[in-house]
Amino acid sequence: MNILIQNNISLKRFNTLRLDSTCDYAITPLNIEGVIEAIKLTQGKRRVVLGNGSNVLLTKEHYDDNTAFILMHRLDELDISDTEIIVEAGRTLHDLAWFTMDHEVDGYAFCEDIPGTVGGALLMNAGQWEFTISQYVNWVEVVHCDDARLERIVPNEGFFGYRHSTLQNMNAIIVRASLSVSHGQYNDIFEKIMYYKRERYMKQPRNYPNAGSVFKRPYKNGESLYVWKLFDATNLRGHRVGGAQISEKHPGFIVNVDHATSTDCVTLIEEAKHRVKEAFDVDLELEWRII
Ligand SMILES: Cc1cc2nc3c(=O)[nH]c(=O)nc-3n(C[C@H](O)[C@H](O)[C@H](O)COP(=O)(O)OP(=O)(O)OC[C@H]3O[C@@H](n4cnc5c(N)ncnc54)[C@H](O)[C@@H]3O)c2cc1C
Repeated sequence: MNILIQNNISLKRFNTLRLDSTCDYAITPLNIEGVIEAIKLTQGKRRVVLGNGSNVLLTKEHYDDNTAFILMHRLDELDISDTEIIVEAGRTLHDLAWFTMDHEVDGYAFCEDIPGTVGGALLMNAGQWEFTISQYVNWVEVVHCDDARLERIVPNEGFFGYRHSTLQNMNAIIVRASLSVSHGQYNDIFEKIMYYKRERYMKQPRNYPNAGSVFKRPYKNGESLYVWKLFDATNLRGHRVGGAQISEKHPGFIVNVDHATSTDCVTLIEEAKHRVKEAFDVDLELEWRII
């Protein structure tokens, strides 16, 4: 068996904002063959691929049969040799960090607290501070949605950018990647994981569901700006619409404080964009992927 098919399911556990959305049709591939099978079965439908749903906004209360959700969390093999880590797209970054620590491989501590999968991270070029997943990629394998062809891609210099990768422009599902291996010390890696985790818990709202940073960091006249500073200057910290709120703790996040709907979130996003444009003539670009 290569796939599971489900009808009429809740997507609440597949988006970290915990919006109450449902769909008529979802396929969970259990291996790479399953991804190929899923693509063949869904020709003519709109496909939505979800890793952990930690960077998406589901805008519909219900997605009918014309949309097929492809849920990647069961594609989760993870293996290591002296020269590379081979990881399937549905494996979490959290697991990757602890696995590499156990094998005394340095570099992946920054992943531990980013609540996505490897596939989502490659698509978004996830990272923090000076680290991004792109720094570790040897190759990425995708299955193309038009002809179900498996391709191995060795990224060139311009392939990844800030919260961007060329994978975003491809009609393809990421299935596997090879990541680099460099030796580290178990205790040092453990210390780094704990340090990063502590820093993030201090700064980020973890008591309410959210989907990470809503907007990318904006630039004006070549200068990088902080979203939270723009939001503080425009009184957006704590601003609430329905059950969605711009976090009091970290205004870069929208949090679901009380049964938020996607409309609440969209209204907040529009309000934030409008105020920042008016006050600073800065156009905010979404990091969230709108489904
Ligand atoms: C509390 C919190 C903290 C966060 N901190 C950070 C941070 O520090 N740095 C950072 O970069 N991000 C951060 N994020 C955002 C998010 O975790 C990352 O972008 C993550 O990499 C998304 O992975 P995912 O599996 O959840 O992707 P999803 O949200 O499921 O999907 C994101 C996009 O990738 C696509 N996608 C997912 N898997 C595949 C696949 N296999 N093939 C093709 N397309 C795919 C989806 O269709 C969608 O367009 C944070 C989020 C939260 C909730």
